[in-house]
Amino acid sequence: MPELPEVETVRRGLLSLVGKRILSIELNRPNLRFPFPEDMDSISGRKILDIERRAKYLLIVLEGGLTWLAHLGMTGRFGHQPEGKHDHVVIDFEDGTRLVYTDPRRFGMMDLIRPGESHKLLKHLGPEPLGKNWSGARLHGSIRDRHVSIKSALLNQQIVVGIGNIYASEILFRSGISPKRLAKNISLNMANEIYRQTQHVLLTAIEAGGSTLKDGQFKQLDGDLGYFPHEFAVYDREGEICVDPNCGKMVKKIVQSGRSTFYCSGCQR
Ligand SMILES: [Zn+2]
Repeated sequence: MPELPEVETVRRGLLSLVGKRILSIELNRPNLRFPFPEDMDSISGRKILDIERRAKYLLIVLEGGLTWLAHLGMTGRFGHQPEGKHDHVVIDFEDGTRLVYTDPRRFGMMDLIRPGESHKLLKHLGPEPLGKNWSGARLHGSIRDRHVSIKSALLNQQIVVGIGNIYASEILFRSGISPKRLAKNISLNMANEIYRQTQHVLLTAIEAGGSTLKDGQFKQLDGDLGYFPHEFAVYDREGEICVDPNCGKMVKKIVQSGRSTFYCSGCQR
């Protein structure tokens, strides 16, 4: 599932659409995760003014105060060429170019945010991990009475947005903190370290162009809208020797709240 760095990579790829005018949109089915809005066609004729991101949502800002909201779900992706039977949305631009949304598992969604409105899916989102409003102190404040593991807390989109299973494992490994430690037992110093490592891990992944699962589920598109495979320190490395040459322990996999966590018991306390 794409996490914040992958969605940010897609956003940057889509920036090449800014300034283009949408000629038409073709929906090949009535819904993705949710039905398309009845007036989805009202994006036609409008110019794309900007592409923004909030958490893992893409906000395609159009002329006239309309915003086209999109979420990639687990397998959604944008490309310029038709791929086949999972192409659910095709947008043609005035300049003759085309944007195709492909999503085999259809956990993605699209909706419209009309002028002056907000969207219910964006309302309760927590702070952006790379934004000015987040900090170690804010993280500490938001988790210090939580009786859940720090791993589960980092996945809670009200505490911080955009971090999923992959980056939570990587951030905690680099922070030297066990994913099993209770959130309420994370000190301010530890929260500051988690904050620092979150910046490092997410920015490095964005720089690398995002990541993908090893099975190639999210294949790279035309080189500009997709994202690349990425090397992880612990994620998906169960049974491998820890990357810290002084450690020698094996990476373990446990299940927390139904999700896989990868960690090193030698490096993380
Ligand atoms: Zn280790």
